[in-house]
Amino acid sequence: RSKQSGKGKNSFYKEQYQYEFSRRVEIQNNIKNYLKNDAFRLFYQPVYCVKTHKICGVEALIRWPDVTPFYNPDEFIPIAEESRFINELGNWVISTALKQLAQWQNKYSDTLNMAINISPVQLQSECFVEKLLVEVNKYQINTHNITLEVTETALIEDNLKIADVLNSLSVKGFKIALDDFGMGYSSISHLTTYPINIVKLDKSMQVAESEKSIKIIEGLSLMLKALDFEIIAEGIETQSQHFLCKELNINFMQGFLFSKAIPAENIEQLLIDCCLSQK
Ligand code: C2E
Ligand code: MG
Ligand code: MG
Ligand code: MG
Repeated sequence: RSKQSGKGKNSFYKEQYQYEFSRRVEIQNNIKNYLKNDAFRLFYQPVYCVKTHKICGVEALIRWPDVTPFYNPDEFIPIAEESRFINELGNWVISTALKQLAQWQNKYSDTLNMAINISPVQLQSECFVEKLLVEVNKYQINTHNITLEVTETALIEDNLKIADVLNSLSVKGFKIALDDFGMGYSSISHLTTYPINIVKLDKSMQVAESEKSIKIIEGLSLMLKALDFEIIAEGIETQSQHFLCKELNINFMQGFLFSKAIPAENIEQLLIDCCLSQK
């Protein structure tokens, strides 16, 4: 407990801080360069209808270019948000995903759905709704086939601007999904304050092994159904979790048990095998 160990601790924190700081700067610079060089990639994870086991849509998930050092979205998206690159990155995601959706709808099914993750920073950016509608019209997609996923944390401080934007999006026919429900800040009041159509149960809730967690999911899904929300279970990894989805009449599910997020070419084979009838 001497001064010495205190000093050691201090320099440990200092090194840790410097390390994190330089990592952040490195990621920011790389985001800038990769954006300029159009090097980011978009992968897609299929979303299955629980009842029919057909693919009803996909979720677009951004991927860092295939280079070292490699970063996961959970690390680089928050850094993109701090540095405001998220708007440019998000615009690229939107236009890439919509272009892809238009192609797949023409080839496979008009009702195929695309889910796109939207950062709260994007929602508050200038003319977000208008710019999104320009893209949607460009590819002649029906807004009903587009789900915008917003994480719970975006709604924590009852943000009037975000409520406003979500309302306009909802009026235009976009589906709004509350992502990662049950992870940390779940507040039932978000469900009534915001125009939400779909609730995505976070993967941390899918520990179907424990009896208590099964009861929680059971109670939650009953409540959500009574409130007319559609439910998507995320992170389905085991047969017992899959079974629970069927038992609880959960509408949709996604997870490694069926498929992780994969490149567009690989999704096509799944759509041929498993989508609604091909055109
Ligand atoms: P999210 O939107 O909740 O996406 C689900 C995450 O869980 C994805 O991680 C997905 O690959 C992963 N996942 C799917 N099934 C399973 C499973 O069965 N088990 C496990 N353990 N994980 C599963 P990913 O792609 O690393 O993305 C992490 C988060 O980064 C996303 O969480 C989302 O919040 C954010 N993100 C990803 N792409 C974008 C984007 O284009 N824009 C924005 N703003 N955020 C994005
Ligand atoms: Mg999501
Ligand atoms: Mg999620
Ligand atoms: Mg998440």
